[in-house]
Formats: sequence, C-alpha cells, structure tokens
Amino acid sequence: MTTADAAPEAGRDFIRDIVQSDLDTGKHRSIVTRFPPEPNGYLHIGHAKSIALNFGVAKEFGGRCNLRFDDTNPTKEEQEYIDSIQADVHWLGYDWGGNLFYASDYFEQLYAWAELMIRNGDAYVDDQSQDEIRSTRGTLTEPGKNSPFRDRTVEENLDLFRRMRAGEFPNGARVLRARIDMAAGNINLRDPVLYRILHAHHPRTGDKWSIYPSYDYAHGQSDAIEGVTHSICTLEFEDHRPLYEWLLSKLPVPSQPKQYEFARLNITYTLLSKRVLTELVRGGHVSGWDDPRMPTIAGLKRRGVPPAAIRDFVRRIGVAKANSVVDLGMLEFCIREELNRIAQRRMAVLRPLKVVIENYPEGQTEELEAINHPDDPSAGTRKISFGREIYIEQDDFMENPPKKFFRLSPGNEVRLRYAYFIKCREVIKNDKGEIVELRCTYDPETRGGNAPDGRKVKATMHWLPAAQSVKAEIRIYNQLFTNPAPEASNFAADLNPQSLEVLSDARIEPEVATSLSTDPLQFERQGYFVRDRDSTPGKPVFNRTIGLRDTFAKEVAKG
Ligand code: ATP
Ligand code: MG
Repeated sequence: MTTADAAPEAGRDFIRDIVQSDLDTGKHRSIVTRFPPEPNGYLHIGHAKSIALNFGVAKEFGGRCNLRFDDTNPTKEEQEYIDSIQADVHWLGYDWGGNLFYASDYFEQLYAWAELMIRNGDAYVDDQSQDEIRSTRGTLTEPGKNSPFRDRTVEENLDLFRRMRAGEFPNGARVLRARIDMAAGNINLRDPVLYRILHAHHPRTGDKWSIYPSYDYAHGQSDAIEGVTHSICTLEFEDHRPLYEWLLSKLPVPSQPKQYEFARLNITYTLLSKRVLTELVRGGHVSGWDDPRMPTIAGLKRRGVPPAAIRDFVRRIGVAKANSVVDLGMLEFCIREELNRIAQRRMAVLRPLKVVIENYPEGQTEELEAINHPDDPSAGTRKISFGREIYIEQDDFMENPPKKFFRLSPGNEVRLRYAYFIKCREVIKNDKGEIVELRCTYDPETRGGNAPDGRKVKATMHWLPAAQSVKAEIRIYNQLFTNPAPEASNFAADLNPQSLEVLSDARIEPEVATSLSTDPLQFERQGYFVRDRDSTPGKPVFNRTIGLRDTFAKEVAKG
C-alpha cells in the first residue's frame, strides 16, 4: 500500500524552519496545525497543497493536525461538501484521528466573546446598510468615516445584539462591528464586521441561530480554542493577520496561535477557485464535481490519478512565500512516474481497423503469453488469443506512408506485440473510399515476435483478436481550458470545446472488460487508463488518465 508514510521525506521550507525553531527554543513543546476548509464545494488540488503542508508538518514534528470545517456561511454550505471533503482528505492519505471540529461547535463561545467585546467597548451594533458600510470604508489612500452608530452605549449595543440573536430583525438590518480605527492604514482594521443577521438553516445548528460570525471573527478564535500553534494559510490572508492578532489580544482566549502565510498553488490551464468550479458544475460545462476534467480531488481520483502522484507533486513544488504558477506538465510528470511504476500493462485498440490474416487457418486460435509489467516480474503474465481476424489501431496503417512511417503499410513488415510478423497485401475500402479492412499474411516462423533468420522490423504494434476482445467506451480528456492562464472572470470564453472525446468502438481484453478493479492500467502505446463508474456489465467505460510521453511512445513503437 502506498500511504503518506511512504512518501519521500518532505523538503525544508520556511514554515518547517519556523516550526523547528519554535520547538528548539521551547516556545512550544508540541505543535498543532489545522486544515480549515469551508464546506462550500469540493476540494481541489490547491487544497491538497494545504492538506499536505498542515498534516505533513504535524506528522513530521510529532504534533497533530485538526480537520476543522469553517462552517460560518450556511447559505453556501452543504452536508454533501462536508462528506466529500472528509473522503478526499482520507483518499489523499491523511488522517485527523479524533480531531474533527466545526467552527459551529464554537458558536456559543464566539457569541459570549462578542458580548464581552461590547462590554469592553471593542464592538458596536451598526444599523448602516452593507452599501453604506462599504462606501464609508475609505480607500487605500483615504481614511474611512466613522459610523453614526459607533458611539452607542454598551447597554444599547447589548440590547440590540441580543435582539439580533433572537431573530427580531430581518437579514441585513444590522451588523456587529469591531471598534478599532476607521483611519487605520490596513483596511481590514477599519471596524470589520464580526456578525451579520442571516435567517438561514445551518447544516449542523439547524435554525438555532439568526446571526452568524464572519470568517475573520471566527477563524482566529477557533484556532485559539483548539490550541493551534501554527495557523497556516494562504497569502491573501496576510493583510488579515493584524486583525487576527488584535482580536486575540482583546479576548480571554485559551491560547495564542500565530498565523503564517504561504503562496497558493496555481497551475497553468487550470482554475482553482471554488466559485469557478461551482459555476462549471452548475452551468453544466462538466458532468459534476468529479468530472475527470475537473482539478478537484474527486475529479482527479475518477480520472485515475493515484494519490501518491498528488503527494509527490505537492512535495516537489514545495512551499514558498511568493506566488507563482506551476506548469501543468509538472503534475503530468508526477502522474506518469507513479503510473508507470504501478500500472499493469494491457492491450487495447482505441480506433479499430480489422485485419484478416489470410494464411492463418480459419477456425484456429492459439494462446500467446504477454507480460503484465516490464519492470516487475512478480506481476506475472497473461494469455492473449491470436486468430485469423484481429484489430489494429487505424493510425498504425497508412496506404501511402511518408518516409519515416515504419508501421504497417502495403508490403512493409511489422511485428505484432507478443505474436508474429505480418505484411499487408491488400487494402479494402467501402464506397466512400474509407479503409475498412486489411488483408495480410503472417510468418508462422516468427511466433513470439522474433524471426529465426534474424531479420528485423522497425515497428511493434499492439493488436487484439477480433473474436476474443470486448467492445468498450473510452473517454479521452484534454485540458478543460485552451488558455494557459484562463480568466476566472470570463472562464467560459476559454473553455476547450474538445476537452472530451468519446471513442465508443474501442476494443479491450476480455478480463479487463469483466474486472471491476479500478486499479490503473497502461494500455500499451496509448497511455494510462482506469475503469469509470459509468461502466455497466454490457458496456465497460474507461477514462484515459494521461497519455504516454511522445518519446516513450516512440520507443515502444520501435520495439
Ligand atoms: P477559494 O478561494 O477557491 O474559494 P478557499 O481558499 O476559500 O478557496 P477554503 O475552503 O477556505 O477555500 O480553503 C481551505 C484551506 O485551503 C485554506 O487554508 C486555504 O488557504 C487553502 N487553499 C485554498 N486554495 C488553495 C490553493 N490554491 N493553494 C494552496 N492552498 C489553498
Ligand atoms: Mg476560504
């Protein structure tokens, strides 16, 4: 089994250096991290970076990592997302043990602290509308304006806040704001909203609450309640850190977490924004959150990407403090490396062309031996039937080949993998002039793929027997976006109309068709494939995870 334990040791980075130093100096005796997803969508490969960092650091330094759902926005959050996030973290190879928490577990405590802030003059109820609050916030160069409600008495604030909680006011009528400084250079400190009125059903607290804490208010205090020592988040929260620290300084919290920011993962040809991913699903641009073209963990899994490849990828890209964009080729490299290691080899013909071997006796078949993994003898061998009628790949034949085409063409001899040398004698076409069949001859002396007279052929081709192969649907995926830097604000314009190609006449080996295994397979010379959950007993469906590198494909073709 490959688990996170088996992954090569993670490199050092500034976060690990900080943790090491905090342990060395005795600042902490043990460390606590957390992965804090908002359950408003499925996890994507960017989250995998954060998961690997938080769980990885905890494990390497003998600490613990909590899984905490930041469930403070009930209008966008669903149980389906909570379930999928847990499944995906486990699938990636990480485990929170008993440390599963929800920000909603702390709603009572957070509320009590909000009342305390009111009593201490650190918070007030503002009756301004959202628009008014936004427009009086100022800009980077101009200070904001104090709210006319900023100097309410403690009694009035407490009364209004309690009535907000009791559900007396409609959505948006009032908010609770921190009372910091409307002229602060950092806009996040200009009296940020701590609570808003929201008459919404919450997946966990039901209809108990009519007010919900803001992310900024809930997050740091949740960390403090859980004893998180290193609160690791992405760079966009850097400007929120002063607020995070201000709140911790004002409240009798049980611990003082420190926030550290790292660069989020960006990948070429990929959008990693939950808003965009949600729109792709809702707009029907993909079949669902686990569509194999999605950069979600569920999509990558369904596509056949092994979790070890994702862990290897995030280990290789490392953790830095400057934003950058990683080449999609890097992820593909990690996927190929892992699949090459673990995937057994099979033969499949994606676009079949029938070949009749005229000098092979009618009604005869024989069994040939095929190797399951060239680098792993323990994977064993299997038998493949050979007969008079077989299929080869359409593009392995050319009637009028250019100079460097070494595969099958009239008069040219090639090797059928594990079988015989064949030569094409005649090309049969339909009324439209399309090639529908080849008439070939084989050399019975070349059984197993070698000629006793030592003559060589320049190509080895995969094939399947016509009678003993099974029809399958094969789905070929290409990049979802044509633009290396797709625009989040107008992503539809960058969608690749050819991101999915369905081959419905492909042929696969019979055991591949009947096996329910979702282990990855290499279909020789074609790439890596995995059985899709859309398969039925009568119609197997396979996803192409990724093609083989061109150079690699050429090497195999040469034989
Ligand atoms: P989005 O911005 O797409 O809505 P999010 O950051 O709001 O995503 P959360 O559920 O809040 O999604 O994320 C949980 C954790 O994952 C956060 O700590 C966040 O910083 C981290 N994370 C999200 N996206 C990335 C990314 N692309 N690279 C690294 N970490 C990420
Ligand atoms: Mg977020």
